[in-house]
Amino acid sequence: MDLTSYAELAVLLINGELPDENGLREELASVFALADAGKHEEAVELLNVLLARHPVRPQISAHDGQDWHLHLSEGGPVMGLAVVVTELGADRLGVCREARCSKVFVDTSSNRSRRYCSERCASRANVAAYRARRKSGR
Ligand SMILES: [Zn+2]
Ligand SMILES: [Zn+2]
Repeated sequence: MDLTSYAELAVLLINGELPDENGLREELASVFALADAGKHEEAVELLNVLLARHPVRPQISAHDGQDWHLHLSEGGPVMGLAVVVTELGADRLGVCREARCSKVFVDTSSNRSRRYCSERCASRANVAAYRARRKSGR
């Protein structure tokens, strides 16, 4: 079972691309916000609270023609973030830098340089920076 895929689940939950069935969205978003602000110890403290509050309940499942595999109910996204933080580092959790966007992402780039949630936000930010430069006459 790939636990980091559960971190992607957390990202989808926070970004509103999955329904927030267990009321985790705001708490998970806070973990990203703290980590992104460099407050790694506070991010970890919050994760520990969430790990206790939303325990992982593994269940063997088979669906859509797949073999038996494990599902982590409820606490899966929290566990996924815990694995990213402990195996890759808290600085891997990011919040999009685009001014009007507040989506989050897990930075899996080799040089930890990711700043935007998507290509779309990256090019939007580039255009904004270009316009700002032209305006200031540089
Ligand atoms: Zn499944
Ligand atoms: Zn974005």
